[in-house]
Amino acid sequence: MRRLALAAVLLLGACSAGPPPSEVVPRGAADPQPAGASTVTAPPSSRPDPAPSCDATASLRPGPLPPAAQMPAGSTMERILQRGRLIAGVDQNSYLMGFRNSFTGEIEGFDVDVARQIAKAVFGDEKKVQFKVVTSAERIPMLKSGAVDVVVRTMTITCDRLEEVDFSQVYYQAGQRVLVRRNSGIGGVDGLADKRVCAAAGSTSLGAVASRAKTAVSVPNWTDCLVMLQQGQVDAISTDDTLLAGLAAQDPYTEVVGSRFTDESYGVGIPKGQQDLVRFVNGVLERMRADGTWRGIYDRWLSRLGPAPTPPAGRYRD
Ligand code: GLU
Repeated sequence: MRRLALAAVLLLGACSAGPPPSEVVPRGAADPQPAGASTVTAPPSSRPDPAPSCDATASLRPGPLPPAAQMPAGSTMERILQRGRLIAGVDQNSYLMGFRNSFTGEIEGFDVDVARQIAKAVFGDEKKVQFKVVTSAERIPMLKSGAVDVVVRTMTITCDRLEEVDFSQVYYQAGQRVLVRRNSGIGGVDGLADKRVCAAAGSTSLGAVASRAKTAVSVPNWTDCLVMLQQGQVDAISTDDTLLAGLAAQDPYTEVVGSRFTDESYGVGIPKGQQDLVRFVNGVLERMRADGTWRGIYDRWLSRLGPAPTPPAGRYRD
């Protein structure tokens, strides 16, 4: 439980002290697992490297953006404008990408700033956005039910997902890596064959790592993986470098190892049948690239991954 307390301190920025460094806490099976943890034996869509069956990252070409607060009559954006707020599905557990600032109570991060830019383009006010917190597994159901207008949550564009939802153009290029306790002896994904690895349910990460590890454990949130790693219940976490950078920043006893072994092209998830909103969001992303906003958001949140790369260029199928 003390290790759990340490995790809580690191995650939430609380003020109480963790265990003294000299105290050795036995690791392993006796610790409680996070709610919803389960061992994956036959991973969902378990092809390790499925050949893409579509041109996943080609989206719809934007037209000129309408002025803020003047959305075309009858458009999806006008409906959002009349409601008075954009509803965006985001994460609250992923430091740097989408997380709750424990001092202010606000949700912040790279993805959150992207969502705010969409709200700003509709309303002229980036505060006119209601955030709904979604886990990895909840992203597609929330889009399909219409509970959110967009999902901006480290969501990789894949052909499987395109059968259920639409996506903007790519707004960030991530890749999957491995996080371990320091000095673990694990050097990257090839070192996982006899190891237990944690990944979030409903993520591409789980499918990519399940076939490469002895055991894959799935949990609702990435921070659940960090607690399991700290408790010694798993040997590694594997997901996008963006998310691992956030976890490593919260626990200095961990490190990211090995190189990227997948390409994770993030897109804004949009319900099917709303081509106008796809084009509009693509226009916002084009503008963010051109006027330096994208770069500013990168520098604000992700500079620990290195200097800002050139933002992904828009690719369109029409
Ligand atoms: N980018 C991956 C995905 O879309 C992992 C990120 C996540 O699940 O939050 O599934």
